[in-house]
Order: sequence, then C-alpha cells, then structure tokens
Amino acid sequence: MTANRVEFGAMAKKNSAKGQDGGLTAEVLIVGGGLAGLTQAIALAGAGIETLVVDRADPALLQAAAHDGRSSAIARGSSQMLAVLGIWERMAAQAQPIMDIRVSDGRVGRAAAPLFLHFAQENLDAETAGPLGYIVENRVMREALHARAAEIPALELLAPASIAELRRDPGAAVARLEDGRELRTQLVIAADGRNSQLRAAAGIETTKWDYPQCGIVATLHHDKPHHAMAFEHFLPAGPFAVLPMTDTHEGQHRSSLVWTEKRELVPAMMALSDDAFSAELMRRFAPSLGDLRAVGGRWSYPLSLLFAERIVDHRLALVGDAAHGIHPISGQGLNLGLRDAAALAEILVEARRLGLDLGGAEVLAGYPRWRRFDNLALIAVTDSLNRLFSNDIGPIRLARDLGLAAVNQVPPLKRLFMRHAMGLVGDLPKLVRGEAL
Ligand SMILES: Cc1cc2nc3c(=O)[nH]c(=O)nc-3n(C[C@H](O)[C@H](O)[C@H](O)COP(=O)(O)OP(=O)(O)OC[C@H]3O[C@@H](n4cnc5c(N)ncnc54)[C@H](O)[C@@H]3O)c2cc1C
Repeated sequence: MTANRVEFGAMAKKNSAKGQDGGLTAEVLIVGGGLAGLTQAIALAGAGIETLVVDRADPALLQAAAHDGRSSAIARGSSQMLAVLGIWERMAAQAQPIMDIRVSDGRVGRAAAPLFLHFAQENLDAETAGPLGYIVENRVMREALHARAAEIPALELLAPASIAELRRDPGAAVARLEDGRELRTQLVIAADGRNSQLRAAAGIETTKWDYPQCGIVATLHHDKPHHAMAFEHFLPAGPFAVLPMTDTHEGQHRSSLVWTEKRELVPAMMALSDDAFSAELMRRFAPSLGDLRAVGGRWSYPLSLLFAERIVDHRLALVGDAAHGIHPISGQGLNLGLRDAAALAEILVEARRLGLDLGGAEVLAGYPRWRRFDNLALIAVTDSLNRLFSNDIGPIRLARDLGLAAVNQVPPLKRLFMRHAMGLVGDLPKLVRGEAL
C-alpha cells in the first residue's frame, strides 16, 4: 500500500502474499467504486462472493468535501437495502427524513401558483407509514460505504488503479491492471459511470441526448427550520428543489439546493458573489425558510439522458449510471442504480448457491429481464416530467397546475405516486424489501 493507494481486504493480503506472478483472483470484478459500484460490492462480498473493485480515483479525493457537493434523495426502498447491508447505520445520524413534499409551479420573482400538490407521510397507509425518503450528503454516503467495505473479508478495493486491458474469453474474463498484475474472474461489472469505458469497449451503443439545462448544486443555510419538508418548485428553466438536510451540530438549519437552469445562464450564475447568488435564490423561492444563503461552494452538472441499448454482454453486466443516466428532476438516478445492484446481487448469490458460472449467459439473462421495466419507466417519466414542467407556455402551465391540484384531491392516486417515489412498487429485489440475501 502506498500513501495514496488503498488496498484493503483479505484478498489483497492473500494476493500480495502470493507474490509469484502477482496474479489476482476474484469471482467478480467491479470497475468503478462509486456509490453504485461499492454498494454492489458490499452486497456480493457480504454474501461471500470474492469481489475485487477497481477505481481509478484516489479514495481520499473522492471523499473530500470539494469533490461532490451533491446530496441525494434516498428512497425508502434504498434505505432498507443499505440497512440490510450494514451501511445505513453508518450514515443514519446524518440522514434527514423527508416527511412532506410540496410540488408547486411558479415564475422568477413571483409568488408560487395557488394550485399545488402536497405529499404528506400521513397520506400513507399503515403498511408504509414513515418517512417518504431521506436526504444524505453524497460525501457522507461515500464514507459509510468505504468504512463498511473495509470490514468485509471477501471484498478488495484497489484505488487508484485502472484496467489496461480486458479480455472476455469463453471460460473467464482476464483483466490486466496498469501496474501489470492480472486478474482472472467469472464476471466483470461495469459501474464506471455515464462515460463508461467498459460499455464503449464492449461496443454497447447508447441513446443519449443533452438537456439544455445544468443542475446547480449548493448547501443552503436558512433562518427558519424546514420541518422535514422538501420543496420542488417548477420554474420556466426547470425544477428548483430545496431539500431538507440535518441541522449542523451548532443548530444551523440546512437544505440542499438543486437548481435547474438554462445552460447559457449557468456560467454567470456560478460567477456571482455569494450575496448576489443568495439574492437570486430569494427571487426564485418564497421565503418560507427565511433568508437563504449558499455556503461551502457551488457545483454545476450538465444534464443529459443516456441509456445503454443492453445491460449485459459476454461476462459483462452494467449497473448504475453506466447503464442509465437520468434527469435529477425526481431524485431517482442513484436509487435506480441501487435497485440494479440489488437485483444483480440476488441473481448472482442464487447462481453461486447452485454452483453456476457467475458470468454464464443463462445466469446473466435474468438481469435485463428483471430491470427492464423499472429502468425504462423512470427514463420515460423523468424525461416527460422535465418537458412538461420546463417551459412557460400558458396552456401547458394551466394544464399542469390543474393536474397537480387534481392529483392532490385524489388520495389513492397520491398514495400510488408516493409509493413509486419511495421505491416500493414493482418486482422488488429482496434487499430493497429489507430482506437479507
Ligand atoms: C445534480 C444532480 C442531482 C442528483 N440527485 C440525485 C438524488 O437526489 N437522488 C438520486 O437517486 N440520484 C441523484 N442523482 C443521480 C446520482 O448522482 C447518480 O445516479 C449516481 O451518482 C451514479 O452513481 P454511479 O456509482 O453509478 O456512478 P458514478 O458516481 O459516476 O461513479 C463512477 C465511479 O467509477 C470510477 N471510474 C470511472 N471510470 C473508471 C475507469 N475507467 N476505471 C476505474 N474506475 C472508473 C469513478 O472514479 C467513480 O468512482 C443526481 C445527479 C445530479 C447530476
């Protein structure tokens, strides 16, 4: 282990002790140790499957506050999965429950339209009572994942490290790392994000389009408490979300901002002084939280939609953003990736119990079948919602406001929307239902 290099896990010790040809072995190789990749690794290795994760980034940099200013809305199903995997207990104290969501329409500098949609946890039936979801800083989740991963003997993380060459032979996949070591494995999982090199190298085509929008992200301090309420305020440029975070130790109230803005305006917004930026926030958001101030930096992400034409290939499976990247309008991208990880883990753990080849075509065939509907549905819903709400066309504005108000008046419909957003609908993998593998 060098200063900037992490190698943990029993296999790292075993392999480095072997020393003859420096060869590594693992039943599964995961390329990409981001939020989806590390969760996938913990699910597999926690069930005894020898798993090696390779990430090209330095873990210390990935966990630094400056790397990723985002917080994620974690759906109930995802929190249940993280709990079973022993990850949630490490982040729960910093996870802010969401008890209410208020969806409204508006224009810059004007009060919100009088018609709105309000999801409250009291609308849920007894079976699903509880928070609608949680807001957690990505940095906090990354720390929890790394701490949990380090405890699992069957999990090895090599970072920073990259794959120089990958051969997917009939009987095994063989990866050569840039440091020359070779790894033989049954299955390679690509969790290397939207610009997945593994996906491209496998010749898997994608459908992709750029939205004319960026997401500006920041942490806000405000004077009044948020009372566990998430606000999704639709402005002509796109959704403007203010999501509740836990208070600081000093009792400072905080929320996470995801402000969708036209791409051409974003450089100017990013260059504003803190005071001018805060003034722009106040013009867009009714002051129910009192004075809003952005603190600790701003980040902007160009928004696009991307999905892979297939999510398995010979001895290869895609999870997370490598398989699909969606608009953050409903805070579901990571949740979708976690459901990929849960489904694939269930398939692989079952295959191993039966003594099957984890990279075998019959084993992998179940994965796209299982994930297809959920993935396509969310791709379509997020894209349509963004088109419906990111405009200022009078009749469309009227129709959508009436739609919001109509849904608000129909409790069963409202409950259905809420169960979808909570990740509790469909053919759920065991982990998402809160059951061990
Ligand atoms: C503004 C914004 C807000 C969002 N809010 C939410 C939200 O509230 N809720 C939600 O569910 N989702 C949200 N998302 C989506 C969510 O952030 C992503 O879906 C999620 O981070 C994807 O995780 P991932 O692990 O699949 O990919 P990534 O986070 O991209 O991780 C990929 C990893 O692979 C590594 N890697 C890349 N290439 C290689 C290589 N060649 N070799 C080795 N390693 C490699 C990288 O270093 C990285 O660690 C949001 C997205 C945006 C842009």
